[in-house]
Amino acid sequence: METHLADFIQGTRAGQEAEEILRRCVHCGFCTATCPTYQVLGDELDGPRGRIYLIKAALEGSPVSERTLSHLDRCLLCRACETTCPSGVHYSRLLEIGREVVARRVGRPLPQRFVRTFLRATLSRPLLFASALRLGQLLRPVLPRGVKKRLPPLVSAGVLPTRKEARRMLVLEGCVQPSMYPNINGAAMRVLAHLGITLIKARQASCCGAIRLHLEDTEGARIQARRNIDAFWPEIEAGAEAIVLTASACAVQLKDYGHLLADDPHYAAKAQRIAAMAKDASEVVAAEKTRLQTLLADLPPAGRRLAFHAPCTLQHGLKIRGVIEELLMAAGFELVAVADAHLCCGSAGTYSLLQPEIAQRLRTAKLAALTAGAPDGIASANVGCIAHLAAESALPVRHWLEWIDERLTC
Ligand code: SF4
Ligand code: SF4
Repeated sequence: METHLADFIQGTRAGQEAEEILRRCVHCGFCTATCPTYQVLGDELDGPRGRIYLIKAALEGSPVSERTLSHLDRCLLCRACETTCPSGVHYSRLLEIGREVVARRVGRPLPQRFVRTFLRATLSRPLLFASALRLGQLLRPVLPRGVKKRLPPLVSAGVLPTRKEARRMLVLEGCVQPSMYPNINGAAMRVLAHLGITLIKARQASCCGAIRLHLEDTEGARIQARRNIDAFWPEIEAGAEAIVLTASACAVQLKDYGHLLADDPHYAAKAQRIAAMAKDASEVVAAEKTRLQTLLADLPPAGRRLAFHAPCTLQHGLKIRGVIEELLMAAGFELVAVADAHLCCGSAGTYSLLQPEIAQRLRTAKLAALTAGAPDGIASANVGCIAHLAAESALPVRHWLEWIDERLTC
């Protein structure tokens, strides 16, 4: 797609990236068929090809309006279109560039700015979020039903392993996960201990930066990335093999640190190293599958059927497909077929809070697909999807590591 960028972006790194991405798009429209927002809203401008046209026009200096911004805001950044695209268009990066430019040119109304600032400030600060969550859990009886169902019950991380294994890996605990679902990282520690790996926490590490990045605060995301690198570095120098992420969204973000800090002379090389060391938990466990199978060999079948919800960050972002399903089957679970597994559940980071109607429709469709095969429970790989689905699910929705942990400790 031939593009003539406007002066305000021409020659910048973002402009060069956008031009390169736009050049690859041949307007074929294959991506539109697999776009969840196009399926729900039926408007070409709420699909990838339409949004690409809008971004191209905005970067060329054509007039933009609040309507342009709302078409871009309605994108889930699920990246299903990238999986479908035969030309390798890096749509998600283009959307990030385009939305930031359009938001700046249009200017978000004050209420939107307030909500976004509030979300950036609370969700990416684990201590603040944990305090707010705890308060909500205490006030649960008097809260409205809509808020109540979003609040997970108070649970513990379970008994954590104390023995030091031969292999050591770092774990990024994340921002909302440790307080909402502490058992996920607890399960990760127990499962990996069975596989001879000790997970260590880096005290000062915190949010991966994805929340800020997706709320148009790229500089804030960079600050969080630098802080995490500083927190990880002593353990890396002391021999930690990898950085394990138990949320697929965080894995996508850490694997992108090299790109995020490419222009930072002090952190670029370290960021590349961190990106190379970042592993979704499924990659680490899959590499030890034979050992896992040996551990599970003498156990009776789990006698339970699960539906697996593959988060977009896992299947479209990390391109990890079928791996967790195999691990769950190796652990003795029977998996039911799930239709339209490529479609987003509507969680998408802060999307379910910013676009609740579309998120609700996508969740309803996703739960219908997940429960069609009459499973006993749902497994997933990202805290956002788990919380979003659990709010309306009659079945237990748990991280896949929790299901495997349960088998190993039974
Ligand atoms: S499938 Fe790829 S090349 Fe075709 S319109 Fe979509 S983004 Fe462009
Ligand atoms: S990222 Fe998802 S919602 Fe956005 S255009 Fe692509 S397929 Fe549609």
